[in-house]
Amino acid sequence: MTELLYLKDCYLKEFEAFVTDVWGSRVELDKTAFYVHGGGQPSDTGTLFSGELSFKVLEVKRDQGKIWHILDSGGLKKGDKVKGKIDWARRYKLMRMHTAAHILTKAVQSFYPQALVTGGQLDLEESRDDYSIGEINEESVKMIEEKANEIVRANLPVEIGEMPRQEALKIPSIFKLRDVMPKNIPMIRYVKIGNDHNACGGTHVSTTGEVGRIEITRAINKGKDNKRLYFRVQ
Ligand SMILES: [Zn+2]
Repeated sequence: MTELLYLKDCYLKEFEAFVTDVWGSRVELDKTAFYVHGGGQPSDTGTLFSGELSFKVLEVKRDQGKIWHILDSGGLKKGDKVKGKIDWARRYKLMRMHTAAHILTKAVQSFYPQALVTGGQLDLEESRDDYSIGEINEESVKMIEEKANEIVRANLPVEIGEMPRQEALKIPSIFKLRDVMPKNIPMIRYVKIGNDHNACGGTHVSTTGEVGRIEITRAINKGKDNKRLYFRVQ
């Protein structure tokens, strides 16, 4: 099992680890600060160093029950000590984007209290989130954007923690995704913005002010009860 260092410290840029398994040009490490692809957030990229050698980390993903760092070439072996360095500019942008997505959800729910997230994909330039909303128009999009930027300007702390599943179930609003309810996880990781909890395994900035201005670039009708909002951060 790879220890996921970013779950506790989203600002960790470098770390040391040991290679615990090798599969072609893929390696498993005993711990990592690289975000593992999932939850609508792309994996981190970066570099692994071992002595004089360096390997580009192209992607990090789960496969066959393990977490693999997919490298640009083979050469590492089990037991090797490595230093990992993540591409921080890329990751930090994704952290701002991911926090923006949570702020947007909070803004959407202030006008549509029943709205849930039905899908989403973060990216570097433009991200999207889908919401179970019946009607949306230009005016409501403007209002949502304004509300989101109010939350940014309030510069609220973004706290990350864990709570037992039973305790999390007492806060129904913690689960904002319609289809993905974590089943057999004893501890629920949450991201809390102001007083709003959100079950999430992603990486986040530590205050809403760090996100910068949120711009909703377009709203698309994805069905009777499904609307897609595209957004950017500046
Ligand atoms: Zn999230």
